[in-house]
Amino acid sequence: MVASGVDADWGCSDFDAKLPNVKRILCTDAKLKPGGSYSVQGRPLLVSDSVPKPLQKQLQKQLQKQLQKQLQKQLPPHAQQRVLVIAAMHGDEFSAASLALHWLKQAQQAPGHTHWRFIPLLNPDGLMHKPPQRANAHGVDLNRNFPTPDWQNLARKYWEHDTRKDPRRWPGKAPLSEPESTYVFNEIKSFKPNVIVSIHAPYGVLDFDGPVMPPSRLGRLYLSQVGIFPGSLGNYAGVQGGIPVVTVELPNARHTPPDAEMQKMWNDLRTWLDQPPVPKVAPPTLPASASSRASSSASSPTPDQRAP
Ligand SMILES: [Zn+2]
Repeated sequence: MVASGVDADWGCSDFDAKLPNVKRILCTDAKLKPGGSYSVQGRPLLVSDSVPKPLQKQLQKQLQKQLQKQLQKQLPPHAQQRVLVIAAMHGDEFSAASLALHWLKQAQQAPGHTHWRFIPLLNPDGLMHKPPQRANAHGVDLNRNFPTPDWQNLARKYWEHDTRKDPRRWPGKAPLSEPESTYVFNEIKSFKPNVIVSIHAPYGVLDFDGPVMPPSRLGRLYLSQVGIFPGSLGNYAGVQGGIPVVTVELPNARHTPPDAEMQKMWNDLRTWLDQPPVPKVAPPTLPASASSRASSSASSPTPDQRAP
């Protein structure tokens, strides 16, 4: 169903005034385009890519083939990577969308060797709801709607017992029941990101899921892993899919950090991305009894309302 007043041109002028520290020009310069999918209420899910300069073409024009080959060999193996940045999966986390637009500007100015794909406002219906809400227009927490193992059993149990049926954390009737989570699922399949960055607020920590060593900090945000939740993006893509997922929890949902702090966070992210990934050391093998305890505790996460 398409909400009245929502049209195909839906864009910056419809939402930028709601975002802290976002001037119209920052949003229009982002060159957001419809990504081909729509929210429950029919708003286009917007995306913008920032890609490295066509190094290949320059080399073809300027250099002879031999030199080109030599230069290509000099590129570090980690130099070509794809990074997917997703923000405002929760519609009441305004600062998350703002940070994504500020970082997109940085990526446009200097993409490095990275192909960046930004989805700065994954839950436009939640943002436009009066009042703005965490869930999408179906009342689903998109960050509990991804297809993690045994979702049918665990996501419902977690919601009933651990959140005490908190309506802000309703995982939905089925994994990928929502167009917004399905869009991310399809983007992961087609774009094949090497790293995913998911921006939230307001718990002021850095979380991480995945097979490599995480960044220890981004600006003033320090690593503090909050747990694994049925249906979360970090669980789906990071734990199950083996794609490093950096989850940024900004300290305030209504205000961005100062511009200098956002810049520092970006610099720290770039530094981490530019380093060759370091695999996590595999944990020692547990005896059978301990391992069954570990798996049963993994299937019933501890109650934690401070979760992304
Ligand atoms: Zn969130």
